[in-house]
Amino acid sequence: MIQQATRRPRTSAVESDFFAGRLIRWQLVYGRHSLPWQGISDPYAIWISEIMLQQTQVSTVIPYYERFMTVFPNIAPLASAPVEEVLTLWSGLGYYSRGRNLHRTARMIMEQYGGAFPQDIATLQRLPGIGRSTAAAIAAFAFGKRCTILDGNVKRILIRYFGVNGHPGERMIEEQLWQLAEGLLPVEEDHKTIASYTQALMDLGALVCVRTQPRCEHCPLQADCYAYQNDLTAVLPAPKPRKTPPVKEIVHLILLNQGRILLKKRPASGIWGGLWCFPETSIDEDSVDYCKKNLHLQVLKFAVLPHLQHTFTHFKLIIQPQLLQSIMYLPECEENSEENDFLWMTIEEALQRAIPAPVRKLLLMTQPLLQSCVHE
Ligand code: SF4
Repeated sequence: MIQQATRRPRTSAVESDFFAGRLIRWQLVYGRHSLPWQGISDPYAIWISEIMLQQTQVSTVIPYYERFMTVFPNIAPLASAPVEEVLTLWSGLGYYSRGRNLHRTARMIMEQYGGAFPQDIATLQRLPGIGRSTAAAIAAFAFGKRCTILDGNVKRILIRYFGVNGHPGERMIEEQLWQLAEGLLPVEEDHKTIASYTQALMDLGALVCVRTQPRCEHCPLQADCYAYQNDLTAVLPAPKPRKTPPVKEIVHLILLNQGRILLKKRPASGIWGGLWCFPETSIDEDSVDYCKKNLHLQVLKFAVLPHLQHTFTHFKLIIQPQLLQSIMYLPECEENSEENDFLWMTIEEALQRAIPAPVRKLLLMTQPLLQSCVHE
């Protein structure tokens, strides 16, 4: 898949103003105008709303925002309150690190900036819990700074509008989206235009260019939206790419002795913790040597069985099973011995124990072979 915009981004002043102009005009008529944090330029109130709105819907945020602003109407009482009081007000809103960061930032602003919010976007970004897009929202709404937001909704709009191939979470795609978003900023630098444009982007993402079934018939960008014009709205943005899990290969040693096989109880923690498995070795190690050195067994290779695959959450395991005949009599180990977690047992006994699925499969594959050996 091509990891770049499928068409040349519009970057000229005329074109970006065309884009911004349509959005601003649309927002005036169809956008949201009565949210409690709208129409103000208080950086404190804008900051609180922006932090609350991260990963949270507007309808959920409104009562929390109103309660919070009643208790902490400005930065000074927030900074002097104990963090527990902030978290109590945050209770139920989720992502509690946001509440803790809010409190830390309030204290930093009081101590380092004399209680006044920094206006510079780079300084805002250095405050706890304020990322690049949140910093831009505060700077645009509160100070009319000509800077762009790029939250999840705006990424979706740009990916569809420009026909960008790739998942927005990929670093290259994200960087490309920042460049596109900056190129689309209105040329005019007045506070009202910047704030209206920022609100328009937010409203379009929340109300029209939604994740599933975007309402393109109501969209001011429809005429030159790549996804709409090419019937790609259902497939853009591209889903998160599935990573190919790493592959680990091991050898399972199926050791036979007098009609029994050797199993080892695995440590309580880790993969297959506490289950009975075959002794295992790496694919690079000679299994006969391994048995001699580690199990004190003299063995002969008997057969190589077809390999098995087992998928864990983070990797794929390929098991190469080898059948080996022990040619030395070994005394039976005590199952419940603390020191010795190896045990010889019949396949029927093994099948009664706590064993992982691949071991069960191998035991069943080995059973007829073992029976024929015993009968010979
Ligand atoms: S036309 Fe549809 S897909 Fe394109 S930006 Fe508008 S709502 Fe999104």
